[in-house]
Amino acid sequence: SHRIMLGPLVAAIDQGTSSTRFLVFNSKTAELLSHHQVEIKQSFPKEGWVEEDPKEILQSVYECMERTCEKLTQLNIDITNIKAIGVTNQRETTLVWDKETGEPLYNAIVWLDLRTQSTVERLINKTPGRNKNHLKHKTGLPISTYFSAVKLRWLMDNVAEVHEAIVSHRAMFGTVDSWLIWCLTGGKSGGVHCTDVTNASRTMLFNIHTMDWDPELCKYFGIPMEILPRVRSSSEIYGLMKSGELSGVPISGCLGDQSAALVGQMCFQDGQAKNTYGTGCFLLRNTGAKPVMSDHGLLTTVAYKLGRDKPACYALEGSVAIAGAVVRWLQDNLGIISSSEELEKLAASVCTSYGCYFVPAFSGLYAPYWEPSARGIICGLTQFTNKSHLAFAALEAVCFQTREILDAMNQDSGIPLTQLQVDGGMTSNRLLMQLQADILCIPVVKPSMPETTALGAAMAAGAAEGVSVWSLNPEDLTEVTSEKFEPQINPEESEYRYARWKKAVQKSMNWET
Ligand code: ADP
Repeated sequence: SHRIMLGPLVAAIDQGTSSTRFLVFNSKTAELLSHHQVEIKQSFPKEGWVEEDPKEILQSVYECMERTCEKLTQLNIDITNIKAIGVTNQRETTLVWDKETGEPLYNAIVWLDLRTQSTVERLINKTPGRNKNHLKHKTGLPISTYFSAVKLRWLMDNVAEVHEAIVSHRAMFGTVDSWLIWCLTGGKSGGVHCTDVTNASRTMLFNIHTMDWDPELCKYFGIPMEILPRVRSSSEIYGLMKSGELSGVPISGCLGDQSAALVGQMCFQDGQAKNTYGTGCFLLRNTGAKPVMSDHGLLTTVAYKLGRDKPACYALEGSVAIAGAVVRWLQDNLGIISSSEELEKLAASVCTSYGCYFVPAFSGLYAPYWEPSARGIICGLTQFTNKSHLAFAALEAVCFQTREILDAMNQDSGIPLTQLQVDGGMTSNRLLMQLQADILCIPVVKPSMPETTALGAAMAAGAAEGVSVWSLNPEDLTEVTSEKFEPQINPEESEYRYARWKKAVQKSMNWET
């Protein structure tokens, strides 16, 4: 049959909190040619616990790969044109497996998980001046349940299999990128145990200045360094696919999802920023070659390092734990919607919350508060309030949380953003986008190709030395088309609602005291 001639193709595995995707791009045009997506089950075995099954995660990757290859073949596109694969992943989520059997020793503890809250409080109480920023000078991060080190510590202390595997030198630790790359490159028969600088920078074991694991941090958390993956750049050949139709294709890009989105949105200049609305919400601003420490509750993180000999770029990050997750909660826990699309219809039917404010602090509050003991509240209810108002309040909550991190970002950098580049699953909600522009009082700009996270990982993979089918030279990069949402309400109205939101946030904090 007739095959369509295309330039080299580059694929990306996008392993997110709520789903896995495999996507194939044309490296010359950045056009998305085909993709497949599979939902991931989350389990909540106890209050505050969030787990996923590492084998289901791996299986979902294989399934997405197979289905995407089938779709390409149906389109008469030759899959041997796929020259490289990039990996992008939910960050911080923590796994330990046995390198001899290849078996996971426990479920993956998802970044949102709160089981380490008491450990975190104990650690903070032990620091001089009860300072949650005690390790920030090295890590860029506050001591929090969010990052991998405390989750790994919990596994070592509470799971006998993990403890035994460590004692007998059979344990491997990794975030989802490491687990996938190790499995895909051969697993127990020669798999490559590595991670990239962006994922490493979220563990709390990584020194963002020396760009390597930090022996003192490892000692602080009591973690043996031999279980850690090797840290590599975000763009180099880590290994080759060992099985399946894509066997032999190099895996040559690796970035945490938020870093990948920054790359996919082409935010390569100091000062450029993007906000991604997925399970959580993450605003990253490129700060160039220097790590900038925040005075307003933002994280300092490694943005990317696109090649072994390339310089590292840093970012300031505002992280919000619950964004799209609130939609799933309304659906799964309250049953007031049966799909995320339905939420938009409900909210649009009222277009106001009627004074109802919903702070979804299900996993405590992240930036700018870093308050693990905060819990969700819905306030301002009257006899008149119905589920449509609640739906609207949930969308508004996502916008207010973004406003808080944008304000912090503007204060830290001194140069206010004049528009916000956005992406992620929730941005298909047009009401949310309009509401966001209204609440920020600046335009919101959304690229027409929504899969920017995967695009970033594909770009990193395609640009790697030895692959070199994708140029990251700004002049060669494809122009992206986008849609712009302009603010429509007056700023006083916007400020009034934002002030009420802040009162609601205060009420969500300090439950225990
Ligand atoms: P992740 O990368 O964290 O897995 P995605 O970027 O895939 O997340 O986005 C999925 C999230 O977006 C889910 O939490 C889902 O509830 C939410 N979402 C998807 N579509 C909509 C919509 N139309 N309105 C509101 N929320 C949505």
